Amino acid sequence: MTTKNKTPDCVVTTNDKPNSCVDVPTLKKITVTYEIHPAGKITPKDNQKYGPSTKLNSLPFAVCVDSKVLSMYQSNPDKARDDSPLIRHEKESIRINSGQNTSLYLGSDARAGYRKYPVYEVTAGDNDIVVTINEKYGTHPNPDTDSKPVFQKTENGKDYYTASLTGDIWLKITHKFTSEEVDTLLASTSLSAPAKQAVSNIYAGNFDPDTSGNAAALTISLTPTYQLKIIWLSESLTNVRLNVSQYDAKSDIYTRVHPHTYAALIQAAISTGLTEVQLTSGWRPMLGSVLHRIGLGLDVKVIKNNAESISLHRNQAEYANYQHSTLGNEAEKEIDNFRDALLKEKDLVRQIFDPWKMDMNTSDQNAPTYNQGISANEKLHETHMHVTAVDAGLGFTGSTPATTK
Ligand SMILES: [Zn+2]
Repeated sequence: MTTKNKTPDCVVTTNDKPNSCVDVPTLKKITVTYEIHPAGKITPKDNQKYGPSTKLNSLPFAVCVDSKVLSMYQSNPDKARDDSPLIRHEKESIRINSGQNTSLYLGSDARAGYRKYPVYEVTAGDNDIVVTINEKYGTHPNPDTDSKPVFQKTENGKDYYTASLTGDIWLKITHKFTSEEVDTLLASTSLSAPAKQAVSNIYAGNFDPDTSGNAAALTISLTPTYQLKIIWLSESLTNVRLNVSQYDAKSDIYTRVHPHTYAALIQAAISTGLTEVQLTSGWRPMLGSVLHRIGLGLDVKVIKNNAESISLHRNQAEYANYQHSTLGNEAEKEIDNFRDALLKEKDLVRQIFDPWKMDMNTSDQNAPTYNQGISANEKLHETHMHVTAVDAGLGFTGSTPATTK
């Protein structure tokens, strides 16, 4: 056996003094916990003015360390299991080294491919960290500042920080679709050409402000004698007006609603011969379930055909005999037809809730159940029809339960 002279890979010095200790520098693991407190819990007065805001469960998130998304969130975000704290389960605690930083992608910005605006970055020192994020009503035009945690105190070996979640931050963390993106997204669907074109026009801003007091209207001319109008009612922007500093409704707000919702509604309206669909809520930052805040919800208040205007509304008293609608035969048939047409769009629509029927999961084998006016979700939908979009990249496919408004 021959021996070559080699440069050693490293030099190890043993502790040569008996019964002594040697300090070996190691990196301390720091646990970071984020807690988000919905604004609706602040004061009853706020609730009255802005509406309750207590549902942040299912909020998508992806965790970054040193500005890189952790591998477990690389393809898909996770979803918060409860209102608060956002990240509370053992497997979701963030463990970083002293000196490393961590931040979050939240809402639709947590979807792989979107991820533009990381929020709530903290750098670890020697202590575990708790970041408390309070939703804050009103307009606050400095999202870059508001989304930076501010150190408050050290207590029992933990560093405590606070930060805000405002409507202006929600605007930043909600994906805005372009018409090109929408064209690609809808290309492989079975939507009719006029429906595809109409949806594309929404994102291109090819429609006019409505002159009759509504927020906006899109007219879709299908034949020389058949037009379908999509109306955004003024109230569809109420929560945005209260909580977003600066926006253009056409380019900033309607485009933050997932195109699958418009696509399904327009296709269903065309196939049932409706002449008008009135929308009462789309993207809104500070009210109700996460679904509308991340752009997956769209609410319909009124549908019209050539014969009549049908309000998707049912009085409380009617729920005593919930299986029997008191609508006229024709109106009842029209609503059933419209809902059935929406239910066929399983690739686009995940849930439909209305004053008469509830379908938690359009992809399962179960027929919609009656709205009995009993559960909180049933009561919320006594006044409108809600549609939830399918978005597999955000984890909103077939079967995740959620309540909505
Ligand atoms: Zn809704």
